[in-house]
This record gives sequence, structure tokens and C-alpha cells, in this order.
Amino acid sequence: MIREGSINIPFLYAAGKAGSEFLVALRDRQQLLGSHCPACARTVAPARAFCPGCGGEEMPSVDIGPGAALVSWTDVPGRGVFALVRPDGADNAMLHKLLGPAEGLRPGSRLRAVFADERQGHITDIEGFEILGEGS
Ligand SMILES: [Zn+2]
Repeated sequence: MIREGSINIPFLYAAGKAGSEFLVALRDRQQLLGSHCPACARTVAPARAFCPGCGGEEMPSVDIGPGAALVSWTDVPGRGVFALVRPDGADNAMLHKLLGPAEGLRPGSRLRAVFADERQGHITDIEGFEILGEGS
């Protein structure tokens, strides 16, 4: 016998210095924040305390986006379209929702972050990424 169920697990998450700066920028400035590594010239999204490329620990914050390029996506029936999006100015992609149908999407499609009217310092302060066009 297989029964369907769910488990609600409330938790607290310490976002750390870089993660907190990222969430505060979303909440207070409607701004995406990345971190730039001067050692290897990589800019990562979202902001991080260390460089995933070279391990460098000096990672000043930089504004990225709100424009972005679509990298990949999946259409989850009943849940929407989830995508890897590369914010302008970043060298990597982050996972979020697309605000629109999957039809006509292609890698490189242009997107823009849409922010929630009421923001709380959470990744959902970004409602999702709207689809602007096909891009280059
Ligand atoms: Zn680096």
C-alpha cells in the first residue's frame, strides 16, 4: 500500500553575511546582488561569502540584473515553469520561476526580474522572471 502524505518542517535559516545582504537588497532596493571575485574575475549570483571558482574569500557585492538570460527550464504541470536564469552581469545561473508559458522559449531568451509588492527579505521577494523576448 502506498499512501500520499506530506510533512511540514518549520525551520530557521541563518543566511550569513552575504546571503543577508542579498535578501536585504531584494527587500529594500528591489535589486539583485551578486559577488565579484577579484582573484578570478568571476561574478556569482546570488551574493556569496566565498568564490565557488577559486575559493577566494574577498567577495565584494555588486548589483546585477534585473535583466537576465534564460539558460534552461522545465514546465511542471500544475506548478508552472521553473528556470535557470543568468542575471546580467553574473557568470552563473540561479533557479527561479518564469512568469509565463513555456511556449516559444529558447536558451538566451531575455527575461527581467519582477519584484513582489510586499517584500519580506525572502527569495520570493522576486515573484519570478517575466519573458521579454527571444534575445540573441
Ligand atoms: Zn574566484
